[in-house]
Amino acid sequence: MSERKPFVGGNWKMNTNRTTSAELARAVVDGLSSVSGVDVAVFPPFPYLLAIKSILRDRGSSIKLGAQDVYHQPDGAFTGEVSIDMLKDCGVQVALVGHSERRHVVGEKDELINLKTRAVLESGLECILCVGETLEQRLNGHTDSVNQRQIRTALAEVPGEQIDHLTIAYEPVWAIGTGKVATPEDAQDAHSKVRRLIETLYGSETAERIRIQYGGSLKPGNASEILAQPDVDGGLIGGAALKGADFVSLVRAAAQAAQNKD
Ligand code: PEP
Repeated sequence: MSERKPFVGGNWKMNTNRTTSAELARAVVDGLSSVSGVDVAVFPPFPYLLAIKSILRDRGSSIKLGAQDVYHQPDGAFTGEVSIDMLKDCGVQVALVGHSERRHVVGEKDELINLKTRAVLESGLECILCVGETLEQRLNGHTDSVNQRQIRTALAEVPGEQIDHLTIAYEPVWAIGTGKVATPEDAQDAHSKVRRLIETLYGSETAERIRIQYGGSLKPGNASEILAQPDVDGGLIGGAALKGADFVSLVRAAAQAAQNKD
């Protein structure tokens, strides 16, 4: 039986505009008004955070407001970056760190991801740390060693008492935005190894509590089997999070999967 409440995030990436982001937020809030048993967050682009926060607040929604990235320095001459305090000021409750597009498109390294992870957790915000292997790494049999390296380096010097604010998103890079999905068995295998690593680093109780999301081309038609895996605690959704009805259906699938695990 799983004590873990599933957590589903909708990462809107660099999509939507002022009008469509508000429409999407309203569709998600209204569609989820009768759904319980799942933590949900949306990650709009930075310029729309305040407007989406107003929509969530005005409708009394428990959906969390998320940021797609943060910068670890508190203030200063860091042109283009956004600090954690600025995000908090806009009502942000949870931040993504180490998304594969930050690692592989923008070029963020493990060391920077460690600084960001530490800063987010020290600030009291929730952190979703994204990890996962490229296709080449998978084909060379390096899936687990890549996940281990990314997690160990990201969590270096993170004390155990902060881990309750951490979620790990296992997102195989070859599955993100490609329409390719890990098999339920491959996802479960990677997730259980991530959980064992957390046990090694922080002990068995922490490992049992930590939520591990799967991410990579989840859609209403393919999600149920993956979400049903014992070590999969929800999902991080990109493309399908841009369609209100699809995102709502994925959150419902996560709620159903959790009920079936009880
Ligand atoms: C993501 O951006 O984290 C993601 C999983 O994207 P997609 O669902 O489009 O693969």
